Amino acid sequence: MLGLMQSRNLSISSLLTHAARHHGGAQVISRTHENTTHRHSWADVERRSRQLANVLARLGVVAGDRVGTLAWNGYRHLEVYYAAPGMGAICHTINPRLHPDDIGYIVNHAQDKVLFVDLSFVPLIGAIAEAAKAHVRDVVLLCAPEAMPEVALTPSMRLHCYDTLLDAAGEDFAWPEFDENTASALCYTSGTTGRPKGVLYSHRSTVIHAYAVALPDVLDMRATTRVLPVVPMFHVNAWGIPYAAALTGATLVLPGRHLDGPSMTGLFNEERVTLSCGVPTVWLGVLQHLRSSGARLDTVKRIMTGGSAAPPVLIDAFRDEYDVRVEHGWGMTELSPVGTYNAPKPAQTGLTGPEATRQMLRQGRVLPGIDMKIVDADDNALPWDGKAFGDLKVRGPWVASAYYGDEPGSALDAGGWFATGDVATIDPDGFMEITDRSKDVIKSGGEWISSIALENIAVSHPDVAEAAVIAARHPKWDERPLLLVVARAGHTVVTESVLQMFEGKVAKWWLPDAVLVVPELPHTATGKIQKTTLRDKYRDHYLE
Ligand code: ADP
Repeated sequence: MLGLMQSRNLSISSLLTHAARHHGGAQVISRTHENTTHRHSWADVERRSRQLANVLARLGVVAGDRVGTLAWNGYRHLEVYYAAPGMGAICHTINPRLHPDDIGYIVNHAQDKVLFVDLSFVPLIGAIAEAAKAHVRDVVLLCAPEAMPEVALTPSMRLHCYDTLLDAAGEDFAWPEFDENTASALCYTSGTTGRPKGVLYSHRSTVIHAYAVALPDVLDMRATTRVLPVVPMFHVNAWGIPYAAALTGATLVLPGRHLDGPSMTGLFNEERVTLSCGVPTVWLGVLQHLRSSGARLDTVKRIMTGGSAAPPVLIDAFRDEYDVRVEHGWGMTELSPVGTYNAPKPAQTGLTGPEATRQMLRQGRVLPGIDMKIVDADDNALPWDGKAFGDLKVRGPWVASAYYGDEPGSALDAGGWFATGDVATIDPDGFMEITDRSKDVIKSGGEWISSIALENIAVSHPDVAEAAVIAARHPKWDERPLLLVVARAGHTVVTESVLQMFEGKVAKWWLPDAVLVVPELPHTATGKIQKTTLRDKYRDHYLE
């Protein structure tokens, strides 16, 4: 027997109309390209998104078409986030930090019809125009008419000014209703190996994910929250914050292109931000600025860190020196992206000192709706004892079932699980902890060593700015850990002293066999250490 409840489709436009109707005066504040502050409200975003939907229709965009963006976090980008899916098209966010060859590939693979581009990326658009000309008809620069630059496009492409198009468009547009499984947004994973792969979100997955990230034990978002996503809207939906902010009526502060410590600190205090989200690199930058300038954070109470493992120093320093709670979450493009979040259960609330830090380093419990398990090489489920580590698999309504262009379900195993490529432990309370990406784990004499655990210890050394541990081939043990460190500015690293840090913290056989001090470590387009490059270079270190 079916239930007798209304079956209204979940839709992204309904998040926006809710915000406009019930939180119409709540602000959306943006740092512009010119470094000025732009303010409007959720009611303005909704009205302007209707105008933009009319613009898209005039440019020939129809339901199902891909609309690309190459843009920082800002109000015009937010309008594309809502107008494109709202009219039934797909908002395809492109990561400008990728190599131009990859961007050209992605634009063609997605067959983007229109590109919305920030002024910062005008040179980039010139570089990929030739590669993109097969599908892209219109390029819209996110600026005012007086800021329009010269752009070298191909003759088949038309160049437009965003503000000019919007000013000429009517506000008369009714958000259409359609199947909630309709595609809404597209985001490619960075592809550290092989070509980037597209993850195609739906209205349903996006709305359910927004509800989940807004929960008290996740971002705890409310109408009184003033949230600043440092995480870019050009990668994994800025962790769903543009949607969750509309859902809850929160004030949204969008930082634009200056993401360094001084700029972020200034914006936090000026706009009385209470919550922010970003990768560890951003927080280390903010921390360094606070310490060197003596500045304080006036209103920020919590910051969420994710994207790569949080170093302990981040949690300790923000708590002890600035009274800010650093919370750890985990996710990936294929999970919309948030999968787990570390909020205490009653048993964890009383922890203090190093025990509290140790607990907060875990990536956390699943958001309700996500199911997870860890398995061995034969796909047998492993116990949740906090010790056994295995491949992490997930399933749920905001987990991808296939990559863009592939058969539905083709990314899943026979049981419907998605293999994350991460290796993890899960403790009896359900707290998951990533020990590695499966390709980064070190297999020494048949046993596994966690590179993340070793890196966390290495970066707690006062002379170390950044550390990476990779598997290097070994004649006797197959693989042994090799530690690469970058010295902090003005410091010298003594390798024996770094190795002493490990004493008593890990089993003796986990100790790196060697420490190399290097001037810098390579990073991916999403700011993670590029271990493939390091392995290529140092794989044979113990054989040489
Ligand atoms: P990309 O590598 O393209 O940036 P994603 O943004 O999808 O791709 O990255 C997802 C991966 O990032 C996860 O599979 C995991 O390895 C890593 N990751 C994300 N959050 C954390 C975290 N809190 N701790 C450790 N690793 C994390």
